[in-house]
Amino acid sequence: SYILYHDQIIKDGSIPVDPQDRGYLFGDGIYEVVFVYDKKPFAFKEHFARFEQSAKKLELTMPYDVSTFKKLTDELISKNNIENGMVYIQMTRGVAPRNHLYERNMQSVVTGFAKSVSLENIAESQASGISTYLTEDIRWLRCDIKSLNLLGNVMAKRKAADFDCQEAIQHRDGTVTEGSSSNVFIVKNGTLKTHPSTNLILNGITRQIVIKLAQQNGISVLEEAFSVDDLLHADEVFITSTTMEVTPVTKLVGSESQSYNIGPVTLKLQDDFKKQIIKNTSV
Ligand code: PMP
Repeated sequence: SYILYHDQIIKDGSIPVDPQDRGYLFGDGIYEVVFVYDKKPFAFKEHFARFEQSAKKLELTMPYDVSTFKKLTDELISKNNIENGMVYIQMTRGVAPRNHLYERNMQSVVTGFAKSVSLENIAESQASGISTYLTEDIRWLRCDIKSLNLLGNVMAKRKAADFDCQEAIQHRDGTVTEGSSSNVFIVKNGTLKTHPSTNLILNGITRQIVIKLAQQNGISVLEEAFSVDDLLHADEVFITSTTMEVTPVTKLVGSESQSYNIGPVTLKLQDDFKKQIIKNTSV
């Protein structure tokens, strides 16, 4: 396979890994995951905009502009013969003798890879719904940055899997924030609710698209914090992410438990999102 290293697409296995890269030492870096449908990246512009914002918030240097990143993404897709799948791109602050204090304007290190994904697997959980595990959100207070520091997220995901759940739903003092790698929506009396895009969640690209699609359909959307109690009494629950699109939640376990039906609002948005994929334009 072919991977991305700086601004080159090269054969896998040939890149030097520097143990003093701040990505390894401190998790000092950011990443993006873009889905590929029919050989084309989906919502690339939106993902790149978030990448730039994450870089800015951490004072990371952007070495290339959007057109270079787009060209490299296209090349990763074509060289790896990706029909449907994903492209992962990360950028660390770079290499320097270990010191917590970072110097500004270091030379960032960009790496990435592409991977084929079976759309049938996604379609399966979208048809049947998934089980989720309710757990405390133990993460830091800058979840808006798509940083490489994902320990809280991976611990939540592991715990969820131990309870036979595909995703965790996290709450901070009883306020539902988001999944371990997805955003959470509830439907109550036809109204959609999801946590506002504050420092406590990652503002998902799928989340943003789903909100717009809902608004275009006259479904009212409240970007408002809601409680675990609201989650328990919701008519419908679904999660959104680049890799899961719009996936219904049919079960909640953990300190509380509940079952949900897959409802009309979820199905409508799932369908609209599929149409958006086919169009592959901005909403
Ligand atoms: N929240 C977290 C913590 C995530 O890791 C992700 C997936 N990257 C999301 C939300 C969903 O974001 P997106 O729709 O951009 O994939």
